[in-house]
Amino acid sequence: MLELASLTAGYDRHTPVFRDVSLTVAPGEAVGLLGPSGCGKSTLARVAALLHRPDGGDVTVDGRTVRGWRHRAPRELRTAIGVVFQQPRLSADPRLTLRDLIAEPLRATGRRAEGPARTAELAHRVGLTDDLLSRRPHEVSDGQLQRACLARALVLRPRWLVCDEMTAMLDASTTAALVAAVEEYRDEHGAGLLAVSHDRVLLDRWCDRTVHWASLTRAPAFATAPMKGS
Ligand code: ADP
Repeated sequence: MLELASLTAGYDRHTPVFRDVSLTVAPGEAVGLLGPSGCGKSTLARVAALLHRPDGGDVTVDGRTVRGWRHRAPRELRTAIGVVFQQPRLSADPRLTLRDLIAEPLRATGRRAEGPARTAELAHRVGLTDDLLSRRPHEVSDGQLQRACLARALVLRPRWLVCDEMTAMLDASTTAALVAAVEEYRDEHGAGLLAVSHDRVLLDRWCDRTVHWASLTRAPAFATAPMKGS
């Protein structure tokens, strides 16, 4: 299970972006998180990917409650979760070729030897040809770079995937190719997915269930107070 329990998080302790948000993804399940821009979906996705420390609540991954975040998160938890963001250029080192970008997590975890075979397999899976793998980010389109970022997210064979507006900048055919690559991976590995988007049609097609942000946040007091005389 990927369990987000009573999370409160933001960028200033006194005015959190959200309070008391809970959401659970079961193994192999695809959960869509739908909500308007600015409500806090990316912040929640970053907490779920262990990249942002919440101010309150717990994240539990396969029964282990997370106590450290970012580089302080235990490696086996960090590598259990693959993450893809909306803007590939913000998460890709411009000095690396796409081939090295995809293999980066293998190098960082001392598994460099697996790089060539795994990169070739994943490049094929996400639809990147050999000539593109030798290019650097500024020499490819956003869609091609996002394909490489998805391959990088899959390279350590994560049990969980967090896709935060992964296709929001992309055309319909690239969107379909990336969603298909995620689904193929999930079919093979039984990975759970948290897909964040403002696009209801996409999430309804892609996910087993779609949760609306409004249903996660604490209801306003007037909505929960018992009616007089009841
Ligand atoms: P969504 O993904 O739903 O569009 P975000 O989680 O990106 O929402 O943002 C939620 C709120 O947090 C917004 O008001 C946004 O301006 C603010 N925010 C996001 N990132 C930061 C940051 N790094 N520092 C300060 N405020 C931020």
